[in-house]
Amino acid sequence: MSAPRGVGRFFDGRTAAAMPADIHVEAEALVIASDYRAPPARWPLQSLRVTDRRPDGSAVLAAHGEEGRLVVDAALLAALAIPDESGRAGPRLSAAQLRRYALVAAALAAALALLWLGWPPLADRLALAVPASFAESLGGQVTESLVSGKRLCTQPAGTAALQRLTDRLAAQLTLPHPVRVQVVDDPLVNAFAAPGGYIVLFRGLIAGAGSPEEVAGVLAHELGHVAASHPLRLLMRYSGLSLAAMLIWGDLNMTTIASLLVTFSYSRGFENEADARAIEILQRAGIDSRGLSHFFARVDAGRIENALRYISTHPTSLDRRAAIEALVRPGAPALTPGEWTALRGICQNS
Ligand SMILES: [Zn+2]
Repeated sequence: MSAPRGVGRFFDGRTAAAMPADIHVEAEALVIASDYRAPPARWPLQSLRVTDRRPDGSAVLAAHGEEGRLVVDAALLAALAIPDESGRAGPRLSAAQLRRYALVAAALAAALALLWLGWPPLADRLALAVPASFAESLGGQVTESLVSGKRLCTQPAGTAALQRLTDRLAAQLTLPHPVRVQVVDDPLVNAFAAPGGYIVLFRGLIAGAGSPEEVAGVLAHELGHVAASHPLRLLMRYSGLSLAAMLIWGDLNMTTIASLLVTFSYSRGFENEADARAIEILQRAGIDSRGLSHFFARVDAGRIENALRYISTHPTSLDRRAAIEALVRPGAPALTPGEWTALRGICQNS
């Protein structure tokens, strides 16, 4: 096989005009001889690259460290077998590379948006824009991770009583997903809502409550967080990029994400909003809303044991207490005495 040889057009990089050139390979270099230029340009073969391919099969070549551009025809191009940088041919990006680029692009876009809008408002908008199915899937995984290792309380009569109360409260809202309440056998006074309508009550909260209206108040408060998408907004604020990655890839370290829900407290604004919504929910359901203020008054007075965790994630304040006091009103009991007894025994399942 003879060494590649042909003709092309050479742009020297200084003048706009193309110069006809004779091209051949000699001593591992492309020799470009042109009537208008002497001596001939010598481009080392390993420094050659294709910068553009044209529809007629010709291509534009360049060489690292050399001035100018050379247009060669398809035959000469094939004979030279040069790696391609034109992006139209050559090795395809692997799926992993594409993902990395997508992540970098997403991170850059997020960083720009962050600079432009500020993170919390943007996170809120993202949280409100994600589909209900995503919120439900995320909430299910988060809840599963948070209750894993804990015994679930499922005594049937207690479960039925809690379900009736939950349905009565949730019926006052228009949610894009069902509300699922679980009780875990844990002595801490705690409750949390996860995205997608998942709520977890701890045994300690039911045991510490002085009346079914107090439980209804806390449940309505958590429903208030759900209705305002607070759990998703909190997760978006603290781990928005990871969540964005989850939207793209569908997997994530759920333990880390889940722990945010039980370690970060909501802002005072979120708490006030959840309180206001809770009172609205209770009153529409005809339930005595004073249970909410009773519960917080007893927590603040240190009359409920093991309540530190709840206080840390749902900080109370004098202003907040006063705002609740101003809105609550008497109403019907949240549960019958029989249902209340059953709910208090919800962890007595074997
Ligand atoms: Zn709260």
